[in-house]
Amino acid sequence: MGLFSGDKFECGRCGRKGEQMAFAPFPNELGARVYNEICQSCWKEWLQKQNQLINHFGLDVSNPDSHDFLFDNLKIFLFNEGVQLAQIDTSKEGSVEW
Ligand SMILES: [Zn+2]
Repeated sequence: MGLFSGDKFECGRCGRKGEQMAFAPFPNELGARVYNEICQSCWKEWLQKQNQLINHFGLDVSNPDSHDFLFDNLKIFLFNEGVQLAQIDTSKEGSVEW
């Protein structure tokens, strides 16, 4: 039920011509990107995955650190970007202060 007719929207993840989401899921750049590139069915897949992650890791979703964690995993899941789940973030190598 997007603003545009469904046949114009092609999902950047699954490549199907699906339905665009009705609105951006987050009020930030990533949310806009999801809105522009991801179809509703891929988003539903992510919501299921997100619930698994929250349950598995016992995340407190009111904690901003949890949001960063979920955003990182969202990028992996929807955009195939970033480090893999449960791997050490080597991009921060050398910058971590113990
Ligand atoms: Zn899709």
